[in-house]
Amino acid sequence: MSQIGMRSDAVVLFGVTGDLAYKKLLPSLYSLAERGRLGVPVIGVARSDWSDGQLRERAAAAINESGIAIDDRVMHDFLHTMTYVRGGYGESALYERIDTRLKEVGSKHPLFYLSIPPSVFDEVIGGLGRVGLNEQTRVIVEKPFGRDLATALELNRILHEHFSESAIYRIDHFLGKEPVQNLLVFRFANSLFEPIWNRHHIHSVQITMTEKFGVEGRGGFYEEVGALRDVVQNHLLELITILAMDPPVSADANALRDKKVEVLKAIRTLPPERVVRGQYVGYRDEEGVDPQSDIETYVALEFEIDSWRWSGVPFLVRAGKAMKETITEAVVEFKAPPRLLFGAADGAPPPSQLRFHIKPDDKTVLTLQAKAPGSEMVTRPVDLAVSYEDSLGEGPEAYEQLIDDAMDGDAQRFARQDAVEEAWRIVTPVLEDPPPVKPYWKGSWGPEEAARIAAGIGGWTPFHSAH
Ligand code: NDP
Repeated sequence: MSQIGMRSDAVVLFGVTGDLAYKKLLPSLYSLAERGRLGVPVIGVARSDWSDGQLRERAAAAINESGIAIDDRVMHDFLHTMTYVRGGYGESALYERIDTRLKEVGSKHPLFYLSIPPSVFDEVIGGLGRVGLNEQTRVIVEKPFGRDLATALELNRILHEHFSESAIYRIDHFLGKEPVQNLLVFRFANSLFEPIWNRHHIHSVQITMTEKFGVEGRGGFYEEVGALRDVVQNHLLELITILAMDPPVSADANALRDKKVEVLKAIRTLPPERVVRGQYVGYRDEEGVDPQSDIETYVALEFEIDSWRWSGVPFLVRAGKAMKETITEAVVEFKAPPRLLFGAADGAPPPSQLRFHIKPDDKTVLTLQAKAPGSEMVTRPVDLAVSYEDSLGEGPEAYEQLIDDAMDGDAQRFARQDAVEEAWRIVTPVLEDPPPVKPYWKGSWGPEEAARIAAGIGGWTPFHSAH
């Protein structure tokens, strides 16, 4: 299980015939080639009876359909780096064929991308280990990292049987998104906010991740997951760690991840009574969904962080499908001044807020009170706002960035096992004893009961688009 210090010299994509490969991975590999960041052979692996030609046709279709700008020369060269190796994942000869193909293309340090169902991880990891392809190589593992603490530990056991932790890249594409990374830069490249980034000045933090659409034909998949597993245990706890972590001692991947794990360790295990689960009316009629389903398509909850920095500051989260708008944002609300000298047109002026928009726009907005024009000393909110994409341009797609990182051996934007385990620990009581789901209408903001989660802080903050 020795380590490598150099860039990967081939990409082996298991599950190349699948949905994720088509929608994201093949276009991302093309984009890397276009930026001059690939330049290595790509080997597709799956059970389907495909030829190299069929793989290339499929890759060309995926890239065309993704809508990215295409350079014919790059496309031609990229497609000609691709070959296909067919086989069942439990078949030991498959791994010998992969080993032979890697030797043919002169690769000694390939990156394996497991874009396959978790049920076959065991066979693939074992197969790679048996032919020595766990030496001087790297492996990207797709989420989900288990469906609870016990299965996460089991997945880890399987991985660690053949790969060391530093060779494992647990991918959560949310971490590769530009606005999520920008949050880290916002906090640690500017010292302006650090002195007030604590319980003495921050009143509450609210995180919202809503989608206008429902499960859309993926009912069978969603029945096994639900909102808590799908987005809270991973993406939204990640967002909280970035917002709440202490400054890392260096930019090293482990220094950064150590600080994230510290936050997770300080988050109290979630009591089911601080959670509201919802289900949109009509979910039970979706294809693949149990007519009696108790799976939540909405969740609202409060996390408490027991640390010197955050004790007493509520971190509220709500996430749902079939909601009024598609939004991902984090709102940091500051404390009101100790004594109000000015009124607002309609009562007391609301406190200052810092909003990080992640979707649909990539923006940071600081909402402050200003003097309303006129003879009276009353206030009106104003926004100091910046759209990063408008100001600085667009960054790479999340998968493109993350494959590039893994090829370089940079694990900064990947989940570490101890963080995965802590995140499961936090949500375990709710998974084991879930409160009943409350119905809500499609196109609404979720079940009425969710208001009780935010009652202690005066209710959920309106969404940015509501301004
Ligand atoms: P698919 O269901 O499309 O499967 C990928 C490939 O794996 C298939 O093309 C198939 O290839 C092979 N496969 C499927 N089922 C089995 C099976 N029972 N036994 C052996 N091989 C099988 O998955 P996705 O592409 O959607 O996802 C791949 C991974 O990425 C999963 O771990 C998923 O959780 C994760 N993921 C997917 C996302 C998405 O948007 N699709 C988003 C985030 C994560 P063949 O039959 O040719 O061997």
